[in-house]
Amino acid sequence: MTTTARQRPLLFGGTFDPPHNGHVALSLLATEAIGADAIWVIPAGRPPHRAGPPAASARHRLAMARLAWQRVPDAAVLEAEVVRAERGETTYTVDTLADLGAALGPHASPRLLLGTDQLATLDRWREPERILRLAEPAVLVRAPETAASALSRVPPRVDDGHWAGRLLELPRFDVSASGVRDRLARGRPVAGLVPGDVEDYLREAGLYLP
Ligand code: ATP
Repeated sequence: MTTTARQRPLLFGGTFDPPHNGHVALSLLATEAIGADAIWVIPAGRPPHRAGPPAASARHRLAMARLAWQRVPDAAVLEAEVVRAERGETTYTVDTLADLGAALGPHASPRLLLGTDQLATLDRWREPERILRLAEPAVLVRAPETAASALSRVPPRVDDGHWAGRLLELPRFDVSASGVRDRLARGRPVAGLVPGDVEDYLREAGLYLP
């Protein structure tokens, strides 16, 4: 799919270590809920604000993301952050959004999809206020959070009073990449938690073994 000629893409960044069915299903439902015209999935290269490095390499995570979203209409997986990571650069969401905004032009209205766990730490991202100007957020309420608890945890620095209207009312998928990794490390099945092609890939590549 071409990424030009889109004006209302839903941008979905993440470590995707690995991508799971919650990522895929919620990005699809969110796209419909907000009337986006595309989903652009952006696997993180070297995410600066995570505790440790991702378990799988950026290339593996990019490959798994491509498999995960391959059947989702109007979805594209962008490799920009992975390419920068391979050049040794730390990647910041604000830079990626600025680059995409420049490519989209002044009339586009991109949205940024993120979960409430990420919202709670948004003040630690680089230039969070500019992020909000570059892409209006759309927020997935993530278990065990409720809408009310999520709103109470919005960091003051980014609390512009508009967060209630950014919360999406979607089904909850209580699945996490860390939970998937933990199951794989214990030799437990992950069928139904990750797309089948992703499961085949990570097994063939020997990822997330103890
Ligand atoms: P980990 O368990 O390793 O922290 P994760 O499942 O949160 O990983 P990420 O790749 O970090 O996966 O998530 C990408 C984005 O998707 C983040 O904004 C995160 O909040 C959101 N997200 C991930 N899983 C869910 C879920 N089950 N429900 C709602 N949002 C989710």
